[in-house]
Amino acid sequence: MTVWDDLVGQERVSERLDGAARDADALVTAAAADAPPPEASRMTHAWLFTGPPGAGVTQTARAFAAALQCVSPDRALGGAPGCGFCDGCHTALIGTHADVSTVVAMGAEILYKHMKETVRKSFTSPANGRWQIILVEEAERLNEKSGNAVLKAVEEPAPRTVWLLCAPSIEDVLPTIRSRCRHLNLSTPSVAAVADMLVRREGVEPDVAAAVARATQGDVDRARRLATDPAARARRASVLKLPLRVEDIGGALKAAQELVDVAAEDAKQLAEEMEAKETEELKAALGAPQGGRLPRGTAGVIKELEDDQKRRRRRTQRNTLDIALSDLTGFYRDVLALQLGSRVALANGDAEDVLERMARGSSPESTLRRIEAIAACGRALDRNVAPLLAVEAMTMALRAG
Ligand SMILES: [Zn+2]
Repeated sequence: MTVWDDLVGQERVSERLDGAARDADALVTAAAADAPPPEASRMTHAWLFTGPPGAGVTQTARAFAAALQCVSPDRALGGAPGCGFCDGCHTALIGTHADVSTVVAMGAEILYKHMKETVRKSFTSPANGRWQIILVEEAERLNEKSGNAVLKAVEEPAPRTVWLLCAPSIEDVLPTIRSRCRHLNLSTPSVAAVADMLVRREGVEPDVAAAVARATQGDVDRARRLATDPAARARRASVLKLPLRVEDIGGALKAAQELVDVAAEDAKQLAEEMEAKETEELKAALGAPQGGRLPRGTAGVIKELEDDQKRRRRRTQRNTLDIALSDLTGFYRDVLALQLGSRVALANGDAEDVLERMARGSSPESTLRRIEAIAACGRALDRNVAPLLAVEAMTMALRAG
């Protein structure tokens, strides 16, 4: 078992990373023995990982970070770094390694003030003598100021610093930054590879695994969540009932309200635990006794954190809505496949009777029009239209006729 085993359908990429991690290890070992560094190396100091949602871009970067920090004694016996079990691998994978820093966006953008400490750290030596790793999730959210800070750091890195940037596609990253990175693109894992992972790693029944893998179309994270989280399955089931509930205006408006409420509730659940912890930590850092009053003049800092948390909540709500929109699109795509007599496997094979009924009761043209209405809702949300307004416009357009 190695850190690469958790990646689904990415054999080509993990092979390259394994090679880089071996050479990186040889470099560290040579330096520790005061020997000259090996001549050729597959290792480099800046990497860009791209791939579609759910392909496992961040997990891949994290697995690489673990392999670089691996301290397994087996390495000396010719074993590859990235055992998955040693202290280096384990702490890198769960995010507590002292020399692996993660940069995430709190809102729509990665703000400079949130990463300035990390950039400073990137110019220092690692505490454990191996690598100082900075993992930037969603590098497409770097703005001008934070992007420039990353660019400077990538241009003149400290000898043992490694930048791992993650983004959906190479076009999403500033050309000046990406030209300094080695680029690895992950492909969408096959339905079979995702189903196999669910059975092997999550202990899911084979027929359930196959259905979930088909429904999520190569999105590993969603597949895992659907297969293991009953609440996520219930949410999906209720989204897929929506097309039957929008017969009239009243039904359409009610369905829109429910969809937006469910997304807000989901965001709230995910956020609450994290926020309470962050607020306590910040208060402690400001010198307030537990549960006690804040020192004078620190209210502004707390307010700033609360604003960041609000922004993040809006984003989580948006993500949940996006999932609902993609489930709906999959539903109508299946309807269209039936109407056109196409032989492709249905994403929602478990709802075939409903799909059949919809297919018989409408025309391919109206199905296309509905798919377009869902896409328009996504674009409206991108323009920051109030979620309820955007979703109402969509459910009204989904009505029969
Ligand atoms: Zn290890």
